[in-house]
Amino acid sequence: MNKLFQNIYRISPNFVQNTMISFFDLVYLRRHGGNYSRLKRQYKELQTAPLEHLLDLQNTRFLEFINYVTNHSEFYKNYYADIDLSQIKDVTGISLLPVMEKETLRRNIKTIKTISPNKSYVGHTGGTTGKSLEVYYRWDDIQDRFAMLDAFREKYGYKFGKRTAWFSGKTILNKKDERKKRFWKLDYFFNIRYYSTFHITQENIPYILEDLNWYQPKIISGFPSNLFEIANTARLNDLRVTFKPDIIFTTAETLIKEQIDVIEEVFNCKVFDQYASSEGAPFLFQCQKGRMHFQLLSGIIEIVDENMKPAQEGEILVSSFTTRGTPLVRYRIGDKMSWSNEICDCGDTQPVIKSVQGREIEYIYSRERGKINLGNISNCVKNLNGVVKFQIIQDKLDEIDVKIITDQSHYSGEDENEFKKELVDRLGELIKINFHYVQDIEKSASGKYSIVKNNIHHLVK
Ligand SMILES: [Zn+2]
Repeated sequence: MNKLFQNIYRISPNFVQNTMISFFDLVYLRRHGGNYSRLKRQYKELQTAPLEHLLDLQNTRFLEFINYVTNHSEFYKNYYADIDLSQIKDVTGISLLPVMEKETLRRNIKTIKTISPNKSYVGHTGGTTGKSLEVYYRWDDIQDRFAMLDAFREKYGYKFGKRTAWFSGKTILNKKDERKKRFWKLDYFFNIRYYSTFHITQENIPYILEDLNWYQPKIISGFPSNLFEIANTARLNDLRVTFKPDIIFTTAETLIKEQIDVIEEVFNCKVFDQYASSEGAPFLFQCQKGRMHFQLLSGIIEIVDENMKPAQEGEILVSSFTTRGTPLVRYRIGDKMSWSNEICDCGDTQPVIKSVQGREIEYIYSRERGKINLGNISNCVKNLNGVVKFQIIQDKLDEIDVKIITDQSHYSGEDENEFKKELVDRLGELIKINFHYVQDIEKSASGKYSIVKNNIHHLVK
């Protein structure tokens, strides 16, 4: 949304805001223009194509992409000046190119970009490691991304226009909405009800659930942590859920098995996950067998060790074919993954990623035990029913602060001891643990909430 639009929006009454949201979405129909339909059909046909065929197509796309980047981006032209690009004949040639660090992208963003903002779709990267960054997409790349994404979603019953509840990290509410306990807006045209992720609090969840019960969504899309919070609150307080969605899509966070189980149980519906960052990373889509398949036609994912050499498990470098506006080539995005050796029998021949370990900074550091990752930390409370939500903040090497929201009827001093014991099991005995009982836990700028907030990652090698 541009500034003027935002200002008019802010002071308008509710029905005007709903209308504005509807018209604003109409603009978004551009995502479905151009080659969108043709590409979507093609991606659907390729969903069970032989691996060799997909690898061939990936090679072609890669060479076209590199050719575009070196001809249109001033930065890359210079960055690759000493490299004999004629040696790059297929995907394996990517190893000849240098790695792109986050800081390099940030510093050179102006000369990396190949298009102007008025001709592009403007995206914002999440601000997990500092200030958010503006990236530009060519519209035909956006259409390509949505074609791929929708081909995947439609496999599971998604249809544009079906009643959808969308948990959105955009600022859509004003003071009056808050007073009226109205935490949503409606797009009349496409049947999308946007719920504000900034307002998912213990106090507001009953209102949100009531509205969901009224709206009866068929499709839900959101961050796993938000959906988990709603589902878990419903479960602990016996709040009724009278709708049954066809499908729930999650994205953009580390998936935690225990949380997914709760979401699936409470909403009586299967969750499908997808991976794609706001910078425009290549896609991973979850299949019916629960495995994450890397989408070869979206780009290249390299898993590397500390020396940036190929590895089975480690940090990833992403190259994304649909980022011609702000090209990402061997971009060190900060996530970790590991390849699986499994061949999936779901029909999709594409490589399987065993785990997405999430952001590099999602861990707690202990001098005794090293880095304890998010998944391991989240397990701490699996036997504690009274913990509604918690977050561990590490500001010092030898100390952590644990913020907890509890359901007092299920939580006692004994539970705190149990929680502490679970933490000591993982982090060792030398780390000081402070418990803080709070009413609410702050969310990040995009409306997400993470169990782990590591503020000392610059101190840890
Ligand atoms: Zn599969």
